[in-house]
Amino acid sequence: MRIVLMGPPGAGKGTQATVISQELNIPHISTGEIFRRNVGEGTELGIQAKEYMDKGEYVPDSVVNAMVADRLGQDDAAHGFLLDGYPRTAPQVAELNGILADGGYELDAAVEITADTEEVVQRLLKRAEVEGRADDTEEVIRRRMEVYAAETEPLTRLYADQGVLRQVDGMGSVEEVSGRILAALRD
Ligand code: AMP
Repeated sequence: MRIVLMGPPGAGKGTQATVISQELNIPHISTGEIFRRNVGEGTELGIQAKEYMDKGEYVPDSVVNAMVADRLGQDDAAHGFLLDGYPRTAPQVAELNGILADGGYELDAAVEITADTEEVVQRLLKRAEVEGRADDTEEVIRRRMEVYAAETEPLTRLYADQGVLRQVDGMGSVEEVSGRILAALRD
């Protein structure tokens, strides 16, 4: 299956992507994770990305798109993938459509995990204490929510029009939410 996972910061995308990718036996590709790894390793890509991530802004499309095109070209993604946190902008949707069309594939589902804003801000502040992520300060969290609402949320419309959007309530336990996602993917 070829799936994209959308939803505001703190909705539980990363956790759910781990569960769902194992369940479906497809690689979990998180652009945020790839950036964080590169930041940690001090690569050129990491240095470029960090400047944006620390402010809660999106990394430029050209950078993200090149990285994803490369990652989806690897062997393990040939038979399916779960993209976590990509696409997030209209040019990224266009890039993914192009990659899929070149391979003769279609997207099976765009899953949007929905969540209450205040609830996710509180979740992210808690995560900051546990994981110490640099972009989990309250100011940056609020900026990330704004950017999501302005740039990414409207894109769900495109996937609704294609008939692949599956909206899933992200409130509840990890098991409850993954159960809902798996049920939505079977529809
Ligand atoms: P995430 O772990 O998915 O919340 O991503 C963390 C940060 O990485 C985001 O706030 C962005 O700065 C950057 N990032 C991750 N994925 C993308 C993307 N598809 N487009 C632009 N920036 C991204």
